Amino acid sequence: MYQKGRAWIELNMENLSHNVKQFQKILPPHCAIMPAVKANAYGHGADLICSALEHMGIKDFCVASASEAVELRKAGISGQILILGYTSPHQFPVLADYHLTQTVIDYSYAKELNDYGKPLCVHVGIDTGMHRLGERSENIENICQIWKLKNLKITGLYSHLCVSDGNSDAERKFTFMQVKKFYSVADSLHKKGIHGFKTHMQGSYGVLNYPSLKFDYARVGIALYGAFSAPQEKTVANADLKPVLSLKSRIECIKPLHSGEALGYGLTFTAADEMTIAAVSIGYADGIPRSLSNKGNVLVNGHKTAIIGRICMDQLLIDVSGLSDVSPGDEVTLIGKYQNQEILASDMALSADTISNEILSRLGSRLERIAI
Ligand SMILES: *Cc1c(COP(=O)(O)O)cnc(C)c1O
Repeated sequence: MYQKGRAWIELNMENLSHNVKQFQKILPPHCAIMPAVKANAYGHGADLICSALEHMGIKDFCVASASEAVELRKAGISGQILILGYTSPHQFPVLADYHLTQTVIDYSYAKELNDYGKPLCVHVGIDTGMHRLGERSENIENICQIWKLKNLKITGLYSHLCVSDGNSDAERKFTFMQVKKFYSVADSLHKKGIHGFKTHMQGSYGVLNYPSLKFDYARVGIALYGAFSAPQEKTVANADLKPVLSLKSRIECIKPLHSGEALGYGLTFTAADEMTIAAVSIGYADGIPRSLSNKGNVLVNGHKTAIIGRICMDQLLIDVSGLSDVSPGDEVTLIGKYQNQEILASDMALSADTISNEILSRLGSRLERIAI
């Protein structure tokens, strides 16, 4: 194994621990963090991130799928693992065998889970306005019926906010409407004598913009990794969050590009002058968006240098003209800090017309993940 060979991810676990403490400070005392570690912990590497979080005292996790949950069990994670998405009936044995907690997507899915015939742990999903998963909040009869299904061990009730990242009047009004609908479902259940379920509704922005809401868990994803979805977002709670992930690669070779010569697939960049260029061993198969062709920047020995030409599957080209201190083998930082220069995941996301969540979660399996 060649550590830090071609392209890799460095994980700063001190920053992760710092972010956990920041959230613990913001959240009400009895609310536990249930980190969202789906999509390989937003590209960071779920095994490394989850074991580190377990050492920090985190006991509950949420993922997107049954196979992600099984991976965590195999990596030794012993706490509650909630599957936020759909699990097909042919995978129900896995839920029982690995003691996983499945989301009840709606009443008919609850009956399917019950028909499996063995006890299964579940959280009931409620749709309060996003209209993705969950039984619609007004179908209170159906929701109560779920508690009559003998094989379901119901330990949670949850919903999801869909505009909590925005702070316009309309967005705040919609969010409070969602919260009200959710509380009213919980109240109806309590009035029927149904108790003993934990509640949760907030992701990162639900916590950062509505810090005083009271739930038992907060399903924090992107912000726990120290990233904002977009650059310089202002939130109601003032959290000091530090990026956990750096993305690095190496210069493979350096050569001149003469005035008038073009480079790369499609010859989309032409030298206006004599230039020095370098090939870097990372490409779109590693998760660098191809839309950053002729657009993005990287850090080389503290210099911000431009990506030129089209990004290839495994490589990209940069302009190192005028940099005397650059040699083959040198490290290139695509996301992260070098001395006083920094490229945030959200900066890369902005250039690629997306959010940092997408950039990070698509970082490829070829990248080594190294905890530092
Ligand atoms: C992904 C996800 C989260 C985490 O969202 P962040 O904005 O990354 O904090 C929480 N809840 C659900 C249902 C999700 O799908």
